[in-house]
Amino acid sequence: MADFLFVPYSSHGHVNPLLPVLRELVAGGDRASVIVAPNFAEAVAATGARVLRLPTTSHVVVPERFDPVDEYQRLVKALADRRAIWALLRGELRHQRPDLVVYDPMIPKVFDIACGHGVPTALFSTTYAQNEHVIALTVSRHLGTAVGDLLRTPLARRLHPWAVETARDHRVVLINALPELQPAADTFGRRVRFVGPLTAATAERCDDLPWPEIERRRVLLVSPGTVFTRGPGFFRTVVEAFADSEWLVLLATGPTAPESLGPLPPNVIARRSVPQTAVLEHAELFLTHAGMNSTLEALAAGVPMILVPRILDQRANARRVAELGAGVRIDAKLLHPQLLRLVAQRLTTDPAVRTAVDALRARITAQNGPAVAAGALREAADASCRFDHTSR
Ligand code: UDP
Repeated sequence: MADFLFVPYSSHGHVNPLLPVLRELVAGGDRASVIVAPNFAEAVAATGARVLRLPTTSHVVVPERFDPVDEYQRLVKALADRRAIWALLRGELRHQRPDLVVYDPMIPKVFDIACGHGVPTALFSTTYAQNEHVIALTVSRHLGTAVGDLLRTPLARRLHPWAVETARDHRVVLINALPELQPAADTFGRRVRFVGPLTAATAERCDDLPWPEIERRRVLLVSPGTVFTRGPGFFRTVVEAFADSEWLVLLATGPTAPESLGPLPPNVIARRSVPQTAVLEHAELFLTHAGMNSTLEALAAGVPMILVPRILDQRANARRVAELGAGVRIDAKLLHPQLLRLVAQRLTTDPAVRTAVDALRARITAQNGPAVAAGALREAADASCRFDHTSR
């Protein structure tokens, strides 16, 4: 039996995929402790893991419009949160001596602290992995392949903090992605394991939505995720597109107050948050920002996607899902009610889309991500495991 210490980044997208892995480890008799913000404590404790509670709640939100005051406050809070993490981490390393520290690339200093205490590490990445080849591909897209190819050298890893983290001497690197969604997937050695999708086995409903109606009607779920969210204008465009149609539209508005959208037609329901995996089980279509968790959850539920990404990894996911035929990508600047209706029509009637979605769903069903991830962590926690530098 091994003793794991997890240091996730306290946001939905980073904690949610960890939960099924914790459940697997605990069910198998291992011990898991998790340093996490209080707003995720209950979900983590429900897995059977031990919670090391940070002092303050975490709400990471990057609004559509840059606000310097908001940004400054976010930074100050992040620094205070980090200090609290270091204190808990050092205490655990000194007194509990876990077999393995598993951390998120958003919190790179964990590696140095764990190494300083002679405890081995594993990296847990909640979206696709980075290395010089992925960086080169991204740059090629913007500046041409000649420039991109110049970056296919280990030195280029320094351009992306997550590439730096991936290249460190970890026992194992877990990536919550299907290889199909990983750019340059064949450039990663066997130490990097694609364990996605790490989604909850059973989706909990736990809220006040009209479930009988959701089960009966054509449901369009709309969620721009929990971090890079959208303002009222985005949601109003969607409402205009599907008002008084046969669709039951569920809007997960996040920090945007549902009241700010004005009066809604009877076929539209707006909530700050919905139990996404439970709704996806009944949805016919998903308008998403293409965050990795949302993308995998939709594929696992066999739901085609309208993809409206905001930032780099979301754009890459959206492009890949569109290439695979399971969705249509729309630039947010081009979002228009008529275009949305046309895309919705195509995604729900084109047999090629259904074939692509079903193929990906079948791939996902065949892979038990949480069990594979837990197995890889157990192997890594075994003291006889030695990192092979040639396998990068
Ligand atoms: N989520 C949810 N309800 C919501 C919005 C999001 O349960 O109303 C969950 C969603 O199922 C996913 C996570 O929050 O597991 C979002 O992660 P993702 O990587 O898709 O995006 P992020 O929010 O990190 O940008």
